[in-house]
Amino acid sequence: MEVAACGVCRTDLHVVDGELPDPKLPIVPGHEIVGRVAGMGRGVAGFATGERIGVPWLGFTCGSCPYCRDGRENLCDRPLFTGYTRDGGYATHALADARYCFPLPERMDDAEIAPLLCAGLIGWRSFRMAGDEAKALGLYGFGAAAHILAQVAAWQGRRVYAFTRGGDTAAQAFARSLGAVWAGGSDEIPPEPLDAAIIFAPVGALVPAALKAVKKGGRVVCGGIHMSDIPSFPYSLLWEERHILSVANLTRADAHEFLGVVGQAGVRTHITRYPLAEANTALADLRAGRLEGAAVLLP
Ligand SMILES: [Zn+2]
Ligand SMILES: [Zn+2]
Repeated sequence: MEVAACGVCRTDLHVVDGELPDPKLPIVPGHEIVGRVAGMGRGVAGFATGERIGVPWLGFTCGSCPYCRDGRENLCDRPLFTGYTRDGGYATHALADARYCFPLPERMDDAEIAPLLCAGLIGWRSFRMAGDEAKALGLYGFGAAAHILAQVAAWQGRRVYAFTRGGDTAAQAFARSLGAVWAGGSDEIPPEPLDAAIIFAPVGALVPAALKAVKKGGRVVCGGIHMSDIPSFPYSLLWEERHILSVANLTRADAHEFLGVVGQAGVRTHITRYPLAEANTALADLRAGRLEGAAVLLP
């Protein structure tokens, strides 16, 4: 495929920093790829040359392990991940397995749609894990994923509570502009106990903080691939049937479901565009928290 845009995800930082085990090296990062089919291998069906497609994190699954056979391909024992164990989209061209690519709705342009392919999808899977009954929902870390998910949750009539770094009034105002009913620092207790919380920031100390904010039976979903160590905390924070869960990867079914919801909810992404040659600047801005929404590279 000819790459038109590639989103910059926090996972790319973890790959670049060597925080994830056994990457393919050297590696081309990037797993939110939007592009057009430039050529197809023999036997590829369902796509046309020139068609716009999206390539997500899940690049291949074995189809035969117990998880694949059980409909949980996100937990496959022998997967390949775009931009981690196979080359990704920080490039002018990329190679992908057609079975894991999907057509994209035409409503948004190439750069605007890129963050949906991981931030949106992982956000969606985390949101589903938080539960349909979660009407008061906390989002810890208001970056690329939360800014998409807040719009979906508000559209569904849920009350979104956004937690940012303490004193980050710009991020808090951004969250309120996207439908959050409250925004504050991650050490604050929200004005109503939460049914569930999703943690997108890679900060283990947020786990006990979120447990304090959820009510009895509430869920705390960790949406990232990597997190600093979780500090010890009293069992009383977990007691009363609170849950801690993690989300790993995505399934193709998640992608189809989420792209349908995005259209209905009228989600818009807020992006900062960088030329491909400025990829390291984009990563540095993400690391420093200088971004509102998501960074996208344009070759
Ligand atoms: Zn498998
Ligand atoms: Zn990602």
